[in-house]
Amino acid sequence: MLTRRHILISAAASLAAPLAPRRLWAGTSLETGGLRIDTLSDGNLVMPIGFSFGDLPADQIAALLERHKLPTDQLTPPCNVTLLRDGTNTVMFDVGSGPDFMPTAGKLAEALDALDVTPEDITHVVFTHAHPDHIWGLLDEFDEPVFPNAEYMIGAAEFDFWTDPATLETIGADRATFAVGAARRLEVIADTVRKLADGEEVLPGLTARLTPGHTPGHMSYDIVGPEGTITVIGDAIGNGHIAFDMPAWHSPSDQDPVLGAQTRVALLAQLADSGATMIGFHLPGGGIGRVERAGDAYTFVEI
Ligand SMILES: [Zn+2]
Repeated sequence: MLTRRHILISAAASLAAPLAPRRLWAGTSLETGGLRIDTLSDGNLVMPIGFSFGDLPADQIAALLERHKLPTDQLTPPCNVTLLRDGTNTVMFDVGSGPDFMPTAGKLAEALDALDVTPEDITHVVFTHAHPDHIWGLLDEFDEPVFPNAEYMIGAAEFDFWTDPATLETIGADRATFAVGAARRLEVIADTVRKLADGEEVLPGLTARLTPGHTPGHMSYDIVGPEGTITVIGDAIGNGHIAFDMPAWHSPSDQDPVLGAQTRVALLAQLADSGATMIGFHLPGGGIGRVERAGDAYTFVEI
């Protein structure tokens, strides 16, 4: 049986001043055949509308926002870090934003603490890609890895792209901080990081799948459990609204919008046909759900 529960965690409530609002972190967990998967909230981002919708006509943007009951001034996408525990390994997919990206993000430590998981417990960290909200939580204030016992893994193409000095020159001004931030962090783990190829087995029952476009070496991961596959899709399907309503839309949030759309269209079709459970880093409800067809488009169904 695939079971799921929602956990509302009141972290640090006892330390807060009596009248301060309680800070709540949402967690979601699945148990399937001896595997336990939790999504941990790293908080949320705050983005201008145009980052997701670009120059889509205003009436279409308004209709999308209304259909998904989203605010019209800015978007606040959630950040869901996936934790997989099989009794031996404790595997984390991405490390969140850390303290330096946005004040609304970087809450992963509290979420882990609420689950009684320490940074030392993490045996493997597997990156989907090296954008700030996924990798900037790698280092502590002494520039040491936050998860000292973990083996770090990332797509080989992703590592090569962000550590190439030419990337800073070619990526464009609005992503220059992404390039500097990723290179600085990847340099710290460069000697030990394991660079993954498309299709490579990461651990028994865990396979990397190249899903490029959002970034050049973006990886998704298939967790093959006794009750089916659970796919961690990172930002290959970057939100619960336009990515499902208009899968072929060239999203300004993808570094290569054409390749990003090709990847998204193929991944949505595959996930809808297989009925696999998927976990999206910026999808609602803790990010765990399924893809269903809705005419020419798709719907994200939280489970
Ligand atoms: Zn992201």
